Amino acid sequence: MDRATHAWIALRAIALLEESGGDKNLVALLKPRAASATIGAWLPDLTDAKRGGGQTQHHVLKMLPMPGGANSKSRFVSRKKELLGRMSFSPAARAYLEADVKLTSEWWSRPYKADPRPGQHIANRAMGIATSLRDLLVIGDKKLDALVPGSVSFLKDVPPGALTRPDQAALYFFMLSHFIADASMPCHCDGRPACGYDSGLHMEMEKHWSKQLGKVFAGDDLFSMEHSLERMLVFARQVDAHLEADIDDLRPGSLPSGRDVWLETIDAARASFSLMALILPESSHPYSGGPKRAEFKHVFSGPGGEALLAEVSRICLTDAVFNTAAAWVDIWEKVGKA
Ligand SMILES: [Zn+2]
Repeated sequence: MDRATHAWIALRAIALLEESGGDKNLVALLKPRAASATIGAWLPDLTDAKRGGGQTQHHVLKMLPMPGGANSKSRFVSRKKELLGRMSFSPAARAYLEADVKLTSEWWSRPYKADPRPGQHIANRAMGIATSLRDLLVIGDKKLDALVPGSVSFLKDVPPGALTRPDQAALYFFMLSHFIADASMPCHCDGRPACGYDSGLHMEMEKHWSKQLGKVFAGDDLFSMEHSLERMLVFARQVDAHLEADIDDLRPGSLPSGRDVWLETIDAARASFSLMALILPESSHPYSGGPKRAEFKHVFSGPGGEALLAEVSRICLTDAVFNTAAAWVDIWEKVGKA
């Protein structure tokens, strides 16, 4: 996803939190700082001479059938009912996959695995920042501490210069949104060469999405928020109509016990991988030895092509917003629990 799309996802998640009655202090932390924190939503893709963790291929989960087939470890098999039943993220993909009859039980019963290096594993990146955020939130400066529920006995031992400022916390929340959003992008979760960024479909799909957002989210002036923040949130909400998405009906809450950002990101990526198998069927693009490219105009042309593109766009962007808001709420509520 490009910069405009990542920025929209984080802004739309703030609007959703506000609309769905999310914690007022969390909204009070993020909303006034949306302009200064927006760069965070894009930071994980940036590489420069001073090297941070940013690089597009450094947060992926590109799955393929696991070598060894049926004899492979069962933990790499996620049968449809089991996957859809256990996950809290990706409500739109869950509903779509639930109703789908095209992916066979044979497809669902195979083991699929991705093999990124541990530091480049998208769920590790998301969980790493989620855990760091909890730690940063408990050592906040006066302003941040007043927003975070509960009290911390050792706060007085932290040197004032080492305390977290609200702007820093907001930036990290936005950075987390990047990893969460990428797990909702089907091409990021499928190891076939035709899903690569330069192989046609992937880049074109992302371009199509940023076009749907409208001009206000494109261009460099987004960071300066030439429009007032309230206006930007109105623009962010207006995108829903183009997507035919009912984002405001969603209620992002904290994750059920036993679930965390890591497990949810893994399962969101598995749902995205399943969606990719519907967008680009194995029959035309086998997992092994298939064509190296897939053209956007071919994939989404012919009978049902346009409708599929609309569905996929609605699902991926809705889920990116919901999952981001749910991860934020989960972190916030866990910090507040003794
Ligand atoms: Zn990325």
